[in-house]
Amino acid sequence: MIIIFSGPSGVGKSTIINELIKKKNLYFSISHTTREKRHNEIDGMDYFFVKNSEFNDLIKSDFFIEYEKYGTDYYGTGKDQLNNPELTTVLDVEVNGATTLLKKNPKFVGIFIDIENDELINRLKTRGHNPEFISKRMQLASEQRSKINEFDYIVKNVDINTTVNNILDIICNLEESW
Ligand code: 5GP
Repeated sequence: MIIIFSGPSGVGKSTIINELIKKKNLYFSISHTTREKRHNEIDGMDYFFVKNSEFNDLIKSDFFIEYEKYGTDYYGTGKDQLNNPELTTVLDVEVNGATTLLKKNPKFVGIFIDIENDELINRLKTRGHNPEFISKRMQLASEQRSKINEFDYIVKNVDINTTVNNILDIICNLEESW
């Protein structure tokens, strides 16, 4: 089973996925990206970090099931990431990539994570972003929300523990009926 998590930046997707993986044996799909590695990230675990030229070669060789430019960088999901026969696979992709995947295969399950605007602004402020960046991100969030109907589930992330437990319930129910 393939579960695609998406939603505006700052809603807590990666924290939610990390907590889910601690509680349940799931396979996390590792994307390729051209962006710089952050200090706490591990190449081959969080992402495969590649140069633009390498990413272009992978596009040409039809390696990706989907890829998108997000901000100034490219992100893509390799077809090989969706072949785990034993475990449910979870993906963290931005909204355009997510809807591409959901259209490609009706069996993929889409979960849109969202939070209230005030909370999103607070989180972006806490990350140290300036007002101009925050207003661009809020504009982007409203564009991303316009695709919310293409997802199977919408989960509001009010409290992380509740959110993780709600999503675990969704995944377990889906696995039972799979
Ligand atoms: P970040 O740079 O913060 O790790 O991720 C930026 C955005 O890229 C996030 O919204 C994340 O969901 C998205 N992303 C990560 N991997 C992929 C991918 O393989 N494909 C697409 N389309 N988006 C991705």
